Order: sequence, then structure tokens, then C-alpha cells
Amino acid sequence: MIVVMKVDASSEQMARVITRIESDGYKSHISEGDERTIIGVVGESPTPLKEENYGAMEGVDKVVRISAPYKLASRTFHPADSLVPLNGSKVGGNKVVVIAGPCSVEGRTEIIEAACAVKEAGATALRGGAFKPRTSPYSFQGHGEKGLQWLAEAREMTGLPIVTEVMDPALVPMVCQYADVLQVGARNMQNFTLLNAVGESQHTVLLKRGMSCTIEDMLMAAEYILAHGNMKLILCERGIRTFEKATRNTFDLNAIPVLKRLTHLPVIADPSHAVGYSEYVEPVARAAVAAGADGLIIEVHPNPAEALSDGRQSLTPQRFASMMEQVRRIAEAVGRTA
Ligand code: PEP
Ligand code: MN
Repeated sequence: MIVVMKVDASSEQMARVITRIESDGYKSHISEGDERTIIGVVGESPTPLKEENYGAMEGVDKVVRISAPYKLASRTFHPADSLVPLNGSKVGGNKVVVIAGPCSVEGRTEIIEAACAVKEAGATALRGGAFKPRTSPYSFQGHGEKGLQWLAEAREMTGLPIVTEVMDPALVPMVCQYADVLQVGARNMQNFTLLNAVGESQHTVLLKRGMSCTIEDMLMAAEYILAHGNMKLILCERGIRTFEKATRNTFDLNAIPVLKRLTHLPVIADPSHAVGYSEYVEPVARAAVAAGADGLIIEVHPNPAEALSDGRQSLTPQRFASMMEQVRRIAEAVGRTA
């Protein structure tokens, strides 16, 4: 249930609603809009919520039941787009942000070279994994904290904020010391212990869609993070598993407008993992922006043929620069910038 306050509701009237929610045994989450405040009522309690009584309280405009199982992620709770700050831009705002860099941080030279190249082409942030979720235990697993230190050096040189994956709840505080954005990967989208840990951290989070998860599963995973009061959350469509074998995954273009309607959270697209082949990354990136994505995350490697992970889907810096040009034109065509 949500309680929509009147435009001219006083802070005392709001405080009385919150006290009532707490005395009924629920938690309140406040969303302050430009015009009015909305109070989300979440949690479990043996006391049934009496809509009519809340509706009769002074300062309350209306009470709305939210039928979706996710509440804080829902657009009903927060009608306006949520804006998540990133390097002077706001993800979810007019500018289409582009996060780019290698799949893995392989070494100091590689990450610095990649950072300089993507910055030059106009990227908003640098990506690179120091902890890699690999299908095989024999594949390169990432350089761990050393990799984070190289990322921090690359940030110092370029000014680009860092987006990097965290896989272990116990390592969240350590990764927070280096990362500007904590990435929760597809394989961990329903790792609820990890979702709680990144929620508690109050750090900006990029949540990728699980490869066999529905849009509703994803919004429920988002709810775990939001329930900790951490609203700095970006969602990412990265392709799902289907029967199609011509590409690594199937990019769910539909998910973009659907998510934009269901939730206020910004939605970005990862064409690299969705398609798995560098030659398909650019067209899918263009499609995602045309469909309303708030940003892109793209794998770029100085030398894809030598990459320790995901080389086949990585763009060279030159191709990335040309993709950026195309993305800018598409963004303009849909009334945005890039
Ligand atoms: C990645 O971003 O390198 C990655 C492993 O992505 P995903 O979790 O979407 O597979
Ligand atoms: Mn990758």
C-alpha cells in the first residue's frame, strides 16, 4: 500500500501517518517528489492495513494498493524517473550514459590504455572486472584487490568513475573502497545475501538481469536493495537464455520499455553479453537506445584477440569510437543526448 500525501500536507501530518504505520507494525519508505510526498508501507504485520482509516487522516490525498509484489521499485510508489548520479551526469536523465572498458582487469597497462581510449571516445564511466564469475573454475578468475588498485589508478588518470563486479557479500566493504558503482552480475541476481549486502552499503549498484530470470524476478531482486533504503540503483538488461544458438544470449529489447513503464529506476543495456559477438554489438546498442535505454555498458579491449575473457564480443577502441558516433545520432533522434 502507498499513502499519497496532499500537495500542501504539513510535516506534522506526515509524521502522524508514519507513526500510525509503525504502530500497525509496518515500515515506511518516503519518496519526496517535486510536488508531493508518497509514503510506501512495506513489511509484514498481523495488523491488517485499513485503507479507509489512512485515507481519512489529515493531509492524505489517497491510498493506493500496489498489486505488484515489488513496491519500492514500482512506478506507483515513485512516479517520476529516479536519477542516479554518475560522473556529473544523471543516469535516467536526458543523457544516455555509456560505461565502457574490458571484461576483466588484466593488468595495469591494459586497464589504463582501455580507460584512456574510452574516455577519448566520450564514455561516462569505466568498467572492468577484478572478481570474475567464470563458468569454468580453470578460466581466469580476475586479479582481485590488485585489479581494483589498477582501476583506481585508471580513474585517477582519466577521471572516469569505476564500475566493477562484487561477488562475495563479505568483500562488499573492500570493493566499496575502490568502486564508484558495485555491479551485481547476472549469475548473482538472486543471491539474496549479496543483494542485502550491497543494499546496506548505500553505494550505487548496477543490477544485471539473471539469464533465466523474468522481468518480475529482476524487480523483486531490486526490491531487496531498495528495502535497505539504497535508492541508487541502475538496472541492466544483458540478454536471456533462449533456444537460439546464433548468439550468446537473446537480447530482450522488450524489457526496456516494459521496465521503463513498471519502474522508476534507470535501465541500461549490455549488448556485449547479450550477443557475444563484436559485429552485433553496435546494431543492438543502437536499438537499445532507440527503445529508451538510459545507457549502455560495452566491452572494449585494446587488443580483443589477446583478451583473457570475452575477447570475441569486445570492441576495439576504434570500433567503440564509431559506435559512440552512431549512438549519439540515435540518441538525438529520440530527443536525448549521448
Ligand atoms: C560482465 O559484465 O563481465 C559479466 C560477467 O556480465 P554478466 O553478469 O551479465 O554475465
Ligand atoms: Mn564479460
